[in-house]
Amino acid sequence: MDISELRNKHYNATITYFELIHEHLMKIRVIPDGDRLEYEPGQYTILALGGWEDRSDGPSTIEDEKQRSKLIKRAYSVACTMLDEHGKLVSCRDYDYVEFYITLVVRSDGELPKRPPLTPRLFALHKGDRLHMSRHVVGHYTLAPIGQDDDIILAGTGTGEAPHNAMVAELLKRGHKGNIVSMTCVRYRGDAAYLEEQAKLEEMFPNYQYRLYTTREPENLDTSRHDYVGKRYLQDVIAPENFEQEFGWAINPDSTHVFLCGNPDMIGIPTRKEDGSHEFPQTKGMIEILTEQGMTLDQSRQPGNIHFEKYW
Ligand SMILES: Cc1cc2nc3c(=O)[nH]c(=O)nc-3n(C[C@H](O)[C@H](O)[C@H](O)COP(=O)(O)OP(=O)(O)OC[C@H]3O[C@@H](n4cnc5c(N)ncnc54)[C@H](O)[C@@H]3O)c2cc1C
Repeated sequence: MDISELRNKHYNATITYFELIHEHLMKIRVIPDGDRLEYEPGQYTILALGGWEDRSDGPSTIEDEKQRSKLIKRAYSVACTMLDEHGKLVSCRDYDYVEFYITLVVRSDGELPKRPPLTPRLFALHKGDRLHMSRHVVGHYTLAPIGQDDDIILAGTGTGEAPHNAMVAELLKRGHKGNIVSMTCVRYRGDAAYLEEQAKLEEMFPNYQYRLYTTREPENLDTSRHDYVGKRYLQDVIAPENFEQEFGWAINPDSTHVFLCGNPDMIGIPTRKEDGSHEFPQTKGMIEILTEQGMTLDQSRQPGNIHFEKYW
């Protein structure tokens, strides 16, 4: 089959905006053919490109013809611009397009035969290009369990900020009464692409606080910017003595919900033992630290106040 036939057969959406933040980080907006998508802030959908597509570092090297003609599919959280060009608060559902915030994963294993990578292909796209976007936006990582007065903490690594921005805009638009903290941990300050919007939102909404933490910036970097507080891991920030000092309010298991998104090491998902107890990973993650503070994990038949979305 030739490439334009394959594209016509599989692709159902168009890129209307493409912003390369840096070589490994981008924002894109995708508009579906037909009706706009229905979804809840925090949910994700599937983006896909054919194995035949070029990569940002050169042409596709998938040799097997059958494999080459298949779609490479991955999940992506719906992100949100949060403020429009006039500085007005907007929710992700105010637009026909869907925004995504994506990092390029550089793999040394190249085009694995069973699982060729998608991100090198997404980073080769331009405004106007076509791709596949599933019309099903799904997932349980939403604001459904949240009451108007609850305090909310959204903690993400890297592009794990994407669903949090969608949730923050929704909460602020609803006039949420409780405290909202959104914190993101990245390697370098330049790996965060929504800082301007976050600073404006903090000014506009007294119950909203945003913090960026980095893991690889030098210790002595200028920390005078209010949204940059130096080199720290989210696991340190969430410790009770640190959290209250930093944000001015304490986590209360009866009225706080925590959302964790991104790197599974940060989240620290426990396995359930036969006797029903939890076994936590060796490296202490957020879930273990929060359960020590009386919080409970939200599970399918056991609602709790710690919610998570792991990216791998
Ligand atoms: C529900 C869900 C929502 C997701 N939403 C997003 C999103 O909004 N933005 C986004 O960038 N990614 C997101 N991801 C990850 C995404 O699905 C892909 O795994 C990622 O883009 C890498 O794709 P790949 O094909 O290049 O490599 P893959 O073969 O999918 O991954 C290879 C390896 O890359 C690492 N990796 C995967 N994702 C990331 C990441 N985001 N940051 C750093 N390392 C990573 C892991 O070690 C993984 O094993 C999400 C994943 C899930 C399950």
